[in-house]
Amino acid sequence: MKSVVVFGATGSIGDSTLDIIASHPDRYKVYALSAFSRVEKLVGLTAKFLPAVVIVPTQEAKEEFIRLNNTGVFPEIRVGQDGLCKTAQDEQADIVVCAIVGAAGLASAYAAAKAGKTILLANKEVLVTAGELFMNAVRAHGATLLPLDSEHNAIFQCLPSQNPKQHLEKIIVTASGGPFRQFSVDALEHVTPEQACKHPNWSMGRKISVDSATMLNKGLEVIEAKWLFDLSPEQIEVVIHPQSIIHSMVQFIDGSLLAQLGHHDMRIPISYSLAYPERITHNAAKFDLSALSQLDFMPPDLTRYPCLRLAFEAMKEGIGACTVLNASNEIAVQGFLDGQIKFTQIAQTIESMLSKIQAPTLSSIDEVLVFDQEVRAKTQDYLAS
Ligand code: NAD
Ligand code: MG
Repeated sequence: MKSVVVFGATGSIGDSTLDIIASHPDRYKVYALSAFSRVEKLVGLTAKFLPAVVIVPTQEAKEEFIRLNNTGVFPEIRVGQDGLCKTAQDEQADIVVCAIVGAAGLASAYAAAKAGKTILLANKEVLVTAGELFMNAVRAHGATLLPLDSEHNAIFQCLPSQNPKQHLEKIIVTASGGPFRQFSVDALEHVTPEQACKHPNWSMGRKISVDSATMLNKGLEVIEAKWLFDLSPEQIEVVIHPQSIIHSMVQFIDGSLLAQLGHHDMRIPISYSLAYPERITHNAAKFDLSALSQLDFMPPDLTRYPCLRLAFEAMKEGIGACTVLNASNEIAVQGFLDGQIKFTQIAQTIESMLSKIQAPTLSSIDEVLVFDQEVRAKTQDYLAS
């Protein structure tokens, strides 16, 4: 029986993770759940999963939880980043699922790495902003890191477990191209948040949905792959594959290509990582090969997707530039969702911030977090000017 912490339990990845846990009460029990704005949903999850600990963002949210809690279950209520980090290090936690969105998930994921936990990482921003520091902590403290992002999970499934890089030529990360793949480039200026959040294949949180539409999500995933699999930028290729059936591929030096295929449902990668190295069943639909008429592939057009170009540039520059990329994107995406800026201004904002901000050397998580805040403030000022 494994005891699981789910950070970001009220989100899309949280939902999928808890759905699998609910199907396997003999294998998993929930130790802790965290929420941010949806305290009421956390109360519902408490009644269902009986966590020993819940984590909410503020003292007010704690009082709200107490007021709403009519479940007869009384978990310990912890608050804020300290509550998350403490929980990540608790002896009772075997598996820590990091599914908070954005840089807000960094400190708790790092705490789990330092405690040597089995970490199921959905939060790609951790590797984008602090890849080197995080991977060093994983190695130094004997943590086990398993990727939940479907592309990385696919690559992980295709690589041999011993000497994974020995005969590897490159990885090929697939991308759907998002909801605007067939829009004219001129029309992109007028697309709305509702259109951007309607992903053709996946149902996800709003921030990652916008990132998929700009393809910054793929850019973040390229950087994520670099750190996870210890690759050079030249070993990472992106290809558009609109059907999202092949979740990514690995090419070896003899020209062999291995791919992982499946229905686009996050319960597949999550269940693989939860049970690794075993496999378990879950409620996602099985893939029906006979229903498949064709698989298309095409190179990404960087005029349509300038964010992907910016991500490759930031990756080549280093960890500071990646933090600028990520933090300015988070602010710009929020600005777009709030109706403050146009869709096309997301890329323009990131590009401006990358050219304006000189990234310092970042040698600790605290330095990354301080710099991240600085970039956010500068991006807010830029958008307000
Ligand atoms: P979501 O918006 O549905 O959920 C986000 C979760 O994070 C919620 O539980 C929310 O309460 C919590 N949260 C938000 N802001 C917080 C803060 N400041 N402090 C603490 N908690 C906070 O997002 P999602 O789609 O589930 O994505 C979560 C992460 O997983 C992201 O990093 C995303 O890139 C990654 N991811 C998601 C998918 C997917 O299919 N949804 C796929 C691959 C990777
Ligand atoms: Mg992905």
